[in-house]
Amino acid sequence: MTRYVYRFGGGVDDGGKGDKNLLGGKGANLDGMAAIGLPVPPGFTLTTELCTAYYADGEKYPDSLNAEFAAGIAHIEGVTGKIFGDPADPLLVSVRSGARVSMPGMMDTVLNLGLNDQTVAGLATVSGDARFAWDSYRRFIQMYSDVVLELDHGSFEEALEIAKEDKGYSLDTELTAEDWQALVKEYKSLVEKQWGKPFPQDVHDQLWGAVGAVFGSWESDRAKVYRRLNSIPGEWGTAVNVQAMVFGNMGDTSATGVAFTRDPATGENAYYGEYLINAQGEDVVAGIRTPQYLTKTARERAGAKPLSMEEAMPETYGELANVFSILETHYRDMQDIEFTVQQNKLWMLQTRSGKRTAKAALKIAVDMATEGLITEEEAVARVDPAALDQLLHPTLDPKAPRDVLTKGLPASPGAASGQIVFDADSAERLNELGEAVILVRIETSPEDIHGMHAAKGILTARGGMTSHAAVVARGMGRPCVSGAGSLSIDNVAKTLRIGDRVLKEGDILTIDGATGEVMAGSVPTVQPELAGDFGVLMVWADKVRRLKVRANAETPLDCRTARDFGAEGVGLCRTEHMFFDAARITAVRQMILADSEAGRREALAKLLPEQRSDFAEIFAVMAGLPVTIRLLDPPLHEFLPHGDGEFAEVAEAAGVSIDLLKRRASELHEFNPMLGHRGCRLGVTYPEIYEMQARAIFEAAILVAEQSGAAPIPEVMIPLVATKRELELMKAIVDKEAQAVFAEKGRTIEYLVGTMIELPRAALKAGEIAEVGEFFSFGTNDLTQTTIGISRDDAGRFLTQYVDKGIFARDPFVSIDVEGVGELIQIAAERGRKSRPGIKLGICGEHGGDPASIAFCEATGLDYVSASPYRVPIARLAAAQAALAHRK
Ligand code: ADP
Ligand code: MG
Ligand code: MG
Repeated sequence: MTRYVYRFGGGVDDGGKGDKNLLGGKGANLDGMAAIGLPVPPGFTLTTELCTAYYADGEKYPDSLNAEFAAGIAHIEGVTGKIFGDPADPLLVSVRSGARVSMPGMMDTVLNLGLNDQTVAGLATVSGDARFAWDSYRRFIQMYSDVVLELDHGSFEEALEIAKEDKGYSLDTELTAEDWQALVKEYKSLVEKQWGKPFPQDVHDQLWGAVGAVFGSWESDRAKVYRRLNSIPGEWGTAVNVQAMVFGNMGDTSATGVAFTRDPATGENAYYGEYLINAQGEDVVAGIRTPQYLTKTARERAGAKPLSMEEAMPETYGELANVFSILETHYRDMQDIEFTVQQNKLWMLQTRSGKRTAKAALKIAVDMATEGLITEEEAVARVDPAALDQLLHPTLDPKAPRDVLTKGLPASPGAASGQIVFDADSAERLNELGEAVILVRIETSPEDIHGMHAAKGILTARGGMTSHAAVVARGMGRPCVSGAGSLSIDNVAKTLRIGDRVLKEGDILTIDGATGEVMAGSVPTVQPELAGDFGVLMVWADKVRRLKVRANAETPLDCRTARDFGAEGVGLCRTEHMFFDAARITAVRQMILADSEAGRREALAKLLPEQRSDFAEIFAVMAGLPVTIRLLDPPLHEFLPHGDGEFAEVAEAAGVSIDLLKRRASELHEFNPMLGHRGCRLGVTYPEIYEMQARAIFEAAILVAEQSGAAPIPEVMIPLVATKRELELMKAIVDKEAQAVFAEKGRTIEYLVGTMIELPRAALKAGEIAEVGEFFSFGTNDLTQTTIGISRDDAGRFLTQYVDKGIFARDPFVSIDVEGVGELIQIAAERGRKSRPGIKLGICGEHGGDPASIAFCEATGLDYVSASPYRVPIARLAAAQAALAHRK
């Protein structure tokens, strides 16, 4: 029979072995911590399989569950010596959801379950603290009504506010036992009014109600949306944890807190966290009271007065620090921890691998490998390549003037400027229009996730370094400033007031998540520093990497950046951009609009020296490395003159009439330019264009070889080839030009002529094409367009729906469509290699910088990927991870 209940704590072990799939993340680690002897309140976990069985059977529990459940409660009762529902000395429990991965949208935790009108009196007596008992009861009613009964929680908060006002209190801590008791009465009548039934007094009803609510929340809209966005399968289900309560709200020797074993923002190897004395549960992150620092150093650094835990509770802090190091050694990663101190006794309530910024991820991985906790290869595998993006991008220019409005907490590093918006939907809407926005909220909640994603940065008025906004922003890599207390936000008027400054929705704001500064207007940025941990990790990555990484670059500056980032060549140098240069465009237009070969040659002669110097500059930067140059590719009409002024200029240069030119221009009109007169079709009809380009390449290569002694290795690439014959014709042009230049210069250099594979026909006929072509470069942008028949430029209108409806798992222009486009690549690679063993294979196009696509390239055995210069480090790391994964 399937076991659905796994007990933990009190020395009992049901063999769950910390299995996250079965016990959920939270349950697995509670089990794991208990198993290594850490102080964990006893409890039991209802497995994810129970959730699945519950839904499979029309929301019914299996018959076998009752007995197991009873044994679970008996276990907690046995270890604590308290009985669930006992009016004299009641056992109280928490009910906590926990899926395999932490998931917003799941039911919030219910604390103090097991209190009712009788047991509250017993709790008051045994604890000797009536205030504590009634405070716990009111918290329970409030939470249960909110998360299980789903009543309007605003009315409960209101009742509390009114009670405080009546008494002239400003803090919750000022309420007495009698005050809380009166409030409980008020709460109970609120429940009865809103729910139509009295608050459940039977503790077993309370418990089953809470368990049912956790399972119910698995199918809530919020959870479903989150699962879809994060590709989490519905079949995973969630686990439920029922655990004996421990109390952080039993006076000044009690506390509750959250901690990270290393700094999640910088990665510094220093404990990091917050705690609150005489508090319970999520008081720390709820932003109701300002939490205190965990360590003395952090408190002093912040210039804060209230004592750190290290100072206020030195002994318990020492125990906690010891637990930190046990947990890091056990889980071999930085941990995010929740704990409670009940009358000087430390209890561990949660541990998991902590979310961190890219900077911290990098530092922690490198440090842990250096400390010997993990291997270099594990360090390489641990850093998310996509997150490196955060580090490769600019930060605020330290020298630029800043109009600083206020300072909050530096919750997630990076700088961002954008228009102010006050709600998540507006953030999303403006982002879709291509506007940069800063989401400004009092505090964020899981409902804001889509807006946080759409925003360039997040600013909150409330909440600490472990608030929702801070944690989520760090995970997403969004800059965030939290707890900027001097902000006053008016969500109705849509204004933001700081002192006497008022900003409106749409005004530009800059935040610096590394310093916490909030500035009016936008501030210029500077390039990042790439030495240090970054450099170390890259060296380790390069040791395991098999795929070479090149860059798509067409200017000397891009090439320089790419080389600095470690590119091992240029995988795609487009030549058309060179034609757009203001000084040349007239000659280009003259060439296009010429109606004879002679006319074209006259214009091309003007372009030759320009192209030669372009290539020479690129070759000089990339000396000794391969440079793939693609001959002219776009439809010619892209270069046409606009307006009479431009036509007049060209007419004068070519010595012909404006009317003639205009007629020629209209002849060039195409209905579907993407499939029109472009690519090698230009070379077939106007061979002199490719002749000129080939000549420029070889003359430049020889020039650089002579000047620098390091000969570049040109790889001349013919675009949009569909047939072997096309490539034969084009290769003949290039070879002839090469021979001519070599003869003139009395020197030869190594070069290759190959083709892009960007049409399905080319992929299928790759065997024949490889008889001529010396390399293939998969042009996956066009190959995706031509395989799926979707134009990238027009896909925006429907592609998101295609992803939402599960037609594509991901945007095929971002991550390669492995099943379709991928199969064509595999066919082409196989057939190409068969007719030309060892043929060089690479990929250019946006996919070359996408980690999932890079994994595909590794699996297909390509030789290199080519990515935009800023993505080169991402590609290096992704290629290393792909190699590690492939080895397994
Ligand atoms: P989340 O998934 O939102 O972190 P948790 O289940 O961890 O929710 O519960 C939130 C907080 O409630 C915990 O950090 C802890 O402070 C408190 N809590 C949960 N269970 C207990 C318990 N058995 N005793 C005391 N506090 C608890
Ligand atoms: Mg929660
Ligand atoms: Mg928690």
